[in-house]
Amino acid sequence: MMSPSVSPVMPDYDSARATFNWQQARARLAGLPGGGVNIGYEAIDRHLLEGIGEHVALRCISREGTTTTLTFAQLADLSSRFANTLDALDVARGESVFTLLGRCPELYATVLGTLRAGRVLCPLFTAFGPEPVRLRMDLGEARVLVTTRALYDKKVAPVRARLPDLRQVLITDPGDGPLPVGTSSLPELMAAAPCDFTVAATDTADLALLHFTSGTTGSPKGAMHNHGAVLAHQVTAAYALDLREGDVFWCTADPGWVTGMSYGIIGPLTLGVTTVVDAGDFEPRRWFTVLARERVTVWYTAPTALRMLMRSTPGGDAVTPREEYDLSALRFVASVGEPLNPEAVRWGEEALGLPVHDTWWQTETGAIMIAGFAADPVRPGSMGRPLPGVEAAVLECGNDDRATVTNGHVRIAEAPGARGELALRVGWPSMFCGYLHDRRRYEACFADGWYLTGDLVTRDADGWYWFVGRSDDVIKSAGHLIGPFEVESALMEHPAVAEAGVIGRPDAVAGAVVKAFVSLRAEYTAGEELRRELLAFARKRLGSAVAPREIEFEPDLPRTRSGKVMRRLLRARELGLPAGDLSSLQTSGNASDRSGESEDRR
Ligand code: ATP
Ligand code: MG
Repeated sequence: MMSPSVSPVMPDYDSARATFNWQQARARLAGLPGGGVNIGYEAIDRHLLEGIGEHVALRCISREGTTTTLTFAQLADLSSRFANTLDALDVARGESVFTLLGRCPELYATVLGTLRAGRVLCPLFTAFGPEPVRLRMDLGEARVLVTTRALYDKKVAPVRARLPDLRQVLITDPGDGPLPVGTSSLPELMAAAPCDFTVAATDTADLALLHFTSGTTGSPKGAMHNHGAVLAHQVTAAYALDLREGDVFWCTADPGWVTGMSYGIIGPLTLGVTTVVDAGDFEPRRWFTVLARERVTVWYTAPTALRMLMRSTPGGDAVTPREEYDLSALRFVASVGEPLNPEAVRWGEEALGLPVHDTWWQTETGAIMIAGFAADPVRPGSMGRPLPGVEAAVLECGNDDRATVTNGHVRIAEAPGARGELALRVGWPSMFCGYLHDRRRYEACFADGWYLTGDLVTRDADGWYWFVGRSDDVIKSAGHLIGPFEVESALMEHPAVAEAGVIGRPDAVAGAVVKAFVSLRAEYTAGEELRRELLAFARKRLGSAVAPREIEFEPDLPRTRSGKVMRRLLRARELGLPAGDLSSLQTSGNASDRSGESEDRR
């Protein structure tokens, strides 16, 4: 007997936590008829059984602005055709299908078809160049690639000879002329394939997804996830994003990043809500138009995008969202990917009429772990509290800012406000099950029954978590431990500052001094006077021990494809060191790098 997929009323935090356990929550899944679990089945098939096949699953807006709607039944049809195509092409169970696609309907057919067929799906950013594409496909032993003609010509053809495992390239837009050698027409194959498909017998431990991390701190790692993760996708989409029946949800993350998968596709579909998909580039007026015209009720975005919107609203140039756009449908706004500066929370209150709730998680965790609950007032600057079913702790650290493990044991820093490494008790369903080809690195992430996240945090007396920095980014200056987030947030309080990236520059006396790279809002000009004003402003807020000693104006901070400030690159440039792995570096200067396709059009 299936229980309803969405609980209609959001319980308060304490009672949700007190009554929750993963074992019981499993009853929220439909489960395969013969037993077992499959992500695609939960996202699609169960809704047909529940009689809501005619509900709109996706509203896809093309770059030109035309909308294609797909019901759950239509998605079932398309993804079945794709699954049957994989069978016809003799792609074996467990083999991997890569996508190099923008947000087009074919992407969703491919993802859901691959999962329903029990093959492994790995999405790539369309803005990757040929070498990052090759590197990831080689590591992930890609057997099938689904992409567009233009992307194939530009990014795959030059490296195809070095991808011996790649057997099939399926082109979504074959057009009229002859196809490139070694590729096939996806529409043709799908038209010839049957439209019904029996979902493969998979279970919780079967591999489903491969996601490369953002590469913020080093080379991207391939994090593997299995079908059991769907329980966490569903539960966290309901608890952390407050998604319920009748919602219109918009997740702005690129599908090449884990957020674009867990919450751009899986979470909302499993809950039967309608998801808006915009294939266009980031542009403030376009985004506000989508929010207003589609009557979006729940919006999930990233600090980098919020900072871009802040730049373009009062204080910045002319957009006044609530006067110009009808945002009355909007009920809940959340952010992920980087620390959410208090300034952005307050901007949300003014510009959108709602505070922005933070959510913290990683590619490795597969789903949101810590969040500001919908029912709780936002505490600006805090990540929130662990979700029901998630046990978190602050672990005592050594000099390397990583948890100290003595004889296999860690120590929990119990005192409120104590700083340490954020750890999660092993056992939530979407925990990654390995790094591709790197068993040792995977094992090094665990100690004493905890997963060690590599992020430094504090927890206050009420159990709210506050981000300090990644252990690699924390600065030690004259005996103080300084988290870059605190300094960046303080700088952002100044009206001239749009964004800041803070690093430690080695110093013979202090060990390190704090240096800030600052990009300005459009109406401000860099100059000596403003630099002095910002230094003084920061000193007043932070005190001289923590405030930056140096400020450099930098119109475009380097960032990853998923939009995160790459402090390691700022540091390397500053010190004249090798830049390291740059395969994730964003080169277009666009907020959340929604520009992949436009690169091909240029
Ligand atoms: P890599 O692991 O390759 O260096 P990455 O850690 O940026 O890259 P992701 O898995 O995309 O790759 O990002 C997870 C990290 O992003 C977290 O460990 C954390 O440092 C940061 N992060 C995510 N959400 C938040 C948040 N709400 N507040 C602060 N930091 C966040
Ligand atoms: Mg990481």
